[in-house]
Amino acid sequence: MTTIVMKFGGTSVANIDRIKNVADIIVNKKKEGFKIAVIVSAMAGVTNDLVDKSKAISSNFSNEEYDVLLSSGEQVTSALLSACLIDKGIKARSMLGWQIPIVTEGQHKNSRIVSVNSKPILENLNNDHVVVVPGFQGVSEKLRISTIGRGGSDASAVALAKALDAERCEIYTDVEGVFTTNPDICDQAKKIEKISYDEMLEMATLGAKVMQSSSVQKAMMNDVEIYVKSTFAPEKDGTQILAEDKISYDKVITGVAYTRDDAKVTLVGVKDKPGVASAIFKPLNDQNIVVDMIVQNISAETQKTDVTFTIKRDDLKKTETILGGLKSDIGYDKLSTDNKVSKISIVGAGMITYPGVAFKMFNALASKNINILVISTSEIKISVLIDDKNTELAVKTLHSAFELD
Ligand code: ADP
Ligand code: ASP
Ligand code: MG
Repeated sequence: MTTIVMKFGGTSVANIDRIKNVADIIVNKKKEGFKIAVIVSAMAGVTNDLVDKSKAISSNFSNEEYDVLLSSGEQVTSALLSACLIDKGIKARSMLGWQIPIVTEGQHKNSRIVSVNSKPILENLNNDHVVVVPGFQGVSEKLRISTIGRGGSDASAVALAKALDAERCEIYTDVEGVFTTNPDICDQAKKIEKISYDEMLEMATLGAKVMQSSSVQKAMMNDVEIYVKSTFAPEKDGTQILAEDKISYDKVITGVAYTRDDAKVTLVGVKDKPGVASAIFKPLNDQNIVVDMIVQNISAETQKTDVTFTIKRDDLKKTETILGGLKSDIGYDKLSTDNKVSKISIVGAGMITYPGVAFKMFNALASKNINILVISTSEIKISVLIDDKNTELAVKTLHSAFELD
């Protein structure tokens, strides 16, 4: 009998009716003769609500207790769904992260799954049970409850699929698959039938929330085939995420992604001498501030340079404080910041073989009078930083310029 993993996200289990609907999807799958392990998210809004509660207690809420608190949302769903399945005449049980165990390492709030003990799950599957596992949670070597970062249930599903050697990992969500861009802001967005791990990883990292990026990375490393499908139309084919050699490309660009949580920082008039870049970025790195795009303009006349880079908006205050403290060391003239920016990216393995993609992108944006602040590229993506107010226009413009409409 074939084993599959089915994961249901927050909106899919948002209320009792939806949990009953999810149970029906599982019952139908069970009738097809599969062994089924399920990963569930917290009911929509619950995790955010728990975050708010932690903030109401303290701005310095204990990281260990934060994980105990946040993981409770998934636990509730796993019990509700298991009991609902039992009520429908299916053998089912919940298995919490620590009971399996799903072992994690790294810091609280943002741990990584390092192992999933498949034995007790397999015993239950072999006993004809549907096993319902709360996503997002695990247990550390020190036997403390851990969580693996927001949106982490996708990664739990992939880890479980790998541990059980499942034939496939089905991610059920509130859209019919991975689209050429976020269907919430572009009605021309089209469902993608097949997308490679590399492209999905870029899309996810660059803002396509439909799959959490570390889950895609894990799937790619372990060859776990993913199907993204809709909980509300489970009969429809979704999107398959798989190895690149199983896809033929007929488009230069596969998708357009965007993020609206960046901030731009510019140090004006930095002395142009060796060691300056290192002096700027080392203290940021020491404080775990991730720097994304970087540009440096050299001015031949003044022996000075401007350094511009982007960081997550949440890190802006911390960054300003750190750079403020470096003024005398680095000797820059001015620090300016802008948090009303967004990053728009085009992603596609097809761009490796087609020249002129960057020109086409810049030209399309220019035709709408959208100013580009910073550019960064990799083999299969080009990202530009623009004024946040132009986000939707830029996404729609690029979507149509690259014939994705
Ligand atoms: P879940 O709660 O099931 O994990 P998420 O909210 O995390 O669901 O992800 C699904 C959402 O991702 C969609 O509702 C949509 O708003 C957003 N999204 C962003 N980019 C894309 C894209 N390219 N394709 C599909 N959905 C996208
Ligand atoms: N409930 C967690 C979150 O909202 C994990 C998840 O849903 O994937 O981030
Ligand atoms: Mg999600």
